[in-house]
Amino acid sequence: MALIVQKYGGTSVGTVERIQAVAQRVKQTVEAGNSVVVVVSAMGKTTDGLVKLAHDISANPNRREMDMLLSTGEQVTIALLSMALQEAGQPAVSLTGAQVGIITETHHTRARILNVATDRMKRHLQNGEVLVVAGFQGISNAQDLEITTLGRGGSDTSAVALAAALKADFCEIYTDVPGILTADPRLVEDARLMTEITCDEMLELASLGAKVLHPRAVEIARNYGVPLVVRSSWTTDPGTWVTSPQPQTRSLEGLEIARPVDAVEFDTDQAKVALLRVPDRPGVAAKLFGEIASQRLDVDLIIQSIHEGNSNDIAFTVIKNSLTRAEAVSSAIIPALMAGHAPSSEAAPDVMIEQKIAKVTIAGAGMIGRPGVAAKMFSTLADAGINIQMISTSEVKVSCVIDQVDCDRAIAVLCNAFDIHESGYRIPEATLPDVTETPVRGVALDLKQARVAVRHVPDRPGMAAKIFQRLAEHNISVDMIIQSQRCRVVNGTMTRDIAFTVAQMDGEAARTTLESVAAEFGCGEVVVDSAIAKVSIVGSNMVGQPGVAARMFDALFKKGINIQMIATSEIKVSCVVAEDQGIVALQTIHAAFELSGSHKVQVSA
Ligand code: ASP
Ligand code: MG
Repeated sequence: MALIVQKYGGTSVGTVERIQAVAQRVKQTVEAGNSVVVVVSAMGKTTDGLVKLAHDISANPNRREMDMLLSTGEQVTIALLSMALQEAGQPAVSLTGAQVGIITETHHTRARILNVATDRMKRHLQNGEVLVVAGFQGISNAQDLEITTLGRGGSDTSAVALAAALKADFCEIYTDVPGILTADPRLVEDARLMTEITCDEMLELASLGAKVLHPRAVEIARNYGVPLVVRSSWTTDPGTWVTSPQPQTRSLEGLEIARPVDAVEFDTDQAKVALLRVPDRPGVAAKLFGEIASQRLDVDLIIQSIHEGNSNDIAFTVIKNSLTRAEAVSSAIIPALMAGHAPSSEAAPDVMIEQKIAKVTIAGAGMIGRPGVAAKMFSTLADAGINIQMISTSEVKVSCVIDQVDCDRAIAVLCNAFDIHESGYRIPEATLPDVTETPVRGVALDLKQARVAVRHVPDRPGMAAKIFQRLAEHNISVDMIIQSQRCRVVNGTMTRDIAFTVAQMDGEAARTTLESVAAEFGCGEVVVDSAIAKVSIVGSNMVGQPGVAARMFDALFKKGINIQMIATSEIKVSCVVAEDQGIVALQTIHAAFELSGSHKVQVSA
């Protein structure tokens, strides 16, 4: 007999008939010999409706009252579903988050789960009852017992947290799509269903705009080793399994907040190549990385910052023993890149190499939505007087390229800052790619991002730390942080530009925050652009397979799409393009990696 947590999303419980259908499925699961805990969302678009009501009254409603309001949606569903189960002859009991004992922080509208009490749930389960629990909500453990919510889409997170706390055999997320697809089927008609995906890949996709799963749910599944499956509530198809590394025994204390970082990694076998002042037009990255790939040189990080004038800088890292060839390829390609490019007043393009670098990385699923974690890494390095040359971020990692002589010190201060012990740091394992598998698992599009750039930031340790600390204090999460390669002397000081993306709704707040930072530290202008789209490819198999990024850039080039920014991590490549080209970019890239399925995936309205 298994203990199963099932979560049903808003569409799956959108009408009385659908609630009755859910009751039937739950009943069948019990009849097959299982114990079941059901977590539900609010019916249909109820939560959106409640948000609208609030905004009809206030442009900026009080967050506590928002939680009071929004938590009512799920309470309706739990009562109705329990009635439907009882009506079908299945004993059931509904419980709110507070009644279960889902203890959260007090941060209204975005609370994180601190602990989950299991006594009451176990008692009901022992009585043979099905438990129907309200998702998305919890209660603060301050004496006031404040009702909190976990953030939009948060009932996935409730479900996985309950599964972790109860040590359930697995957690099923029922939704209106048949599982996790290679792209959003509303935008890419021939998106294909995956049978499985790793948690790390899912984390990237979920946070890059794929909306099937709340990233925090994946984070908990990964940390507690909860087997997770995403399935359709309309069929009995098996869906997509989200696989975790070996299950860990981990205390429930501080469930969502303990230990955002669980390892410090380093790599001293990389060298950096930077191309300065290459033309800002479609096809440049495609040509460069196409050539690099045809030499079978494996590129690790790629970074292209926002353009200056009409030229870009592109920097990348390769394994040290390919540096000579990478440099030769880069120098040889410059004339071809310049062909037909109007001569400008700027200096000529140039190739710059840097041999003695090291990459230090902090890794851990707990850094999602916690902007303070990256900021803490930067300030830790700054306090040790270590300058950061390149930054690359993914959902579960922040990597900094630094001077090789600083590497040992960097590891020591980072282990100390994040409380990682001797054994916790490691050199990333060389994974042998399975070349039979496609290197790319899925493609995601995020149209809800804005690009923020701070011009002419003094090039000295501590500047990135200041900027990201200040943003973290305002709870603004950043993604895709990029420092320009080119230094420019402004009023006698060496400066670089720092650019990154934030959620569109945080764009203005980021601007105001940064304008004050800029004034204080003598930086230049702050530029915000909301008309951008971010397209990303994700896949663990791209590690050690040359040419993956080149294929993505080439696909964009063939559609005449200009790449404004590039950032990569081990398992992801993201490009910023103009907003109105986002959907075409997504479709083109999906096709370029031959991800299409043979039949169309049905998505209900
Ligand atoms: N009802 C909440 C929302 O729409 C939580 C959820 O459905 O996951 O955001
Ligand atoms: Mg959802």
